[in-house]
Amino acid sequence: MSDTFKALVVDKDDDGTRAAVRDLTLDDLPEAEVTVAVEYSTLNYKDGLCIGPGGGLVRNYPHVPGIDLAGTVEASSDDRYAPGDKVVLTGWRVGEAHWGGYSQKARVRADWLVPLPDGLTTRQAMAVGTAGFTAMLAVQALEDHGFRAGPVLVTGASGGVGSVAVALLSALGKEVAAVTGRPEQEDYLRGLGATRIVPREDLAETVKRPLESETWGGCVDAVGGAMLARLLGQMEYGASVAAVGLAGGASLPATVIPFLLRGVNLLGIDSVLQPYDNRVRAWDRIAQLLPMERLEEMVVPATLEDLPKLGADILKGQVRGRVVVDLN
Ligand code: NDP
Repeated sequence: MSDTFKALVVDKDDDGTRAAVRDLTLDDLPEAEVTVAVEYSTLNYKDGLCIGPGGGLVRNYPHVPGIDLAGTVEASSDDRYAPGDKVVLTGWRVGEAHWGGYSQKARVRADWLVPLPDGLTTRQAMAVGTAGFTAMLAVQALEDHGFRAGPVLVTGASGGVGSVAVALLSALGKEVAAVTGRPEQEDYLRGLGATRIVPREDLAETVKRPLESETWGGCVDAVGGAMLARLLGQMEYGASVAAVGLAGGASLPATVIPFLLRGVNLLGIDSVLQPYDNRVRAWDRIAQLLPMERLEEMVVPATLEDLPKLGADILKGQVRGRVVVDLN
């Protein structure tokens, strides 16, 4: 039937949560200014939580996850958007507190959207997604504070944030050292532009000496925890670490010595509440800088039906690169 569309719906009862593809109608969608015919979505670590256990992110059930979406405006009561406009949405707690992009139609606030940047298709925008957008914000923060001479370290390198960070830094002409716990991903990471592979176990030990040799000229860290604590002591004098994620843990068992004796900067990166102008700037930069053939290398194509398994996989650190969900 033409007035129904497909969505991944998560229900919760006493036995836990269950995700399944269901038919919905426009009347099922929440009220908001803009109705989008979603063409592509993607999978981030947070999506794994929202498809599965919720992780304290989902407020109400039934819930439609999907923190990212790209598609075409179908109806709009806001002057900024008209039917036919191509749009992208990341962040704003869409897919967590609000119904998200794992649906052929979504109803969202105009404030949350940005126009699809020139030079990107909706599919490429979702190959980037929150993970790649965040990688761009992290790289921009490092640029603002200045790179030092040594290689730039990327942790969680085969994941979504890490893969895009490797490709962006390489496109900027940086020597990139990729930290991975999956040695079989070496060819993939070198294909994205990594010049050096650092085994995860090299950075796994907790801090024993607060300062080690000055090795890294910058860092995009998707892992946090003991790894972040350890690498702070390996940064060059005045170098910066963009702290993006917590794939390895939320604690920071570090000392303040690298800050005091080496002037190391720890830069916090948030993608969810970035103001509109910053979003547009970061998306335009992605469209200009990111080599599209390298983006394509990262893509794992998927459908709504694949998401329950892929959501569980990403929570176990088993997804490589960027999953692109086709909703057409
Ligand atoms: P992915 O799961 O795609 O990537 C995470 C990567 O981290 C894995 O692929 C793996 O890489 C590595 N990893 C996983 N578990 C561990 C572990 N126990 N110890 C060390 N390394 C590990 O997730 P995303 O790239 O989507 O997100 C990465 C992190 O960034 C998440 O914590 C996410 O919540 C956060 N994030 C934050 C945002 C923000 O606004 N600040 C926005 C987007 C994401 P490998 O196998 O190569 O070692």
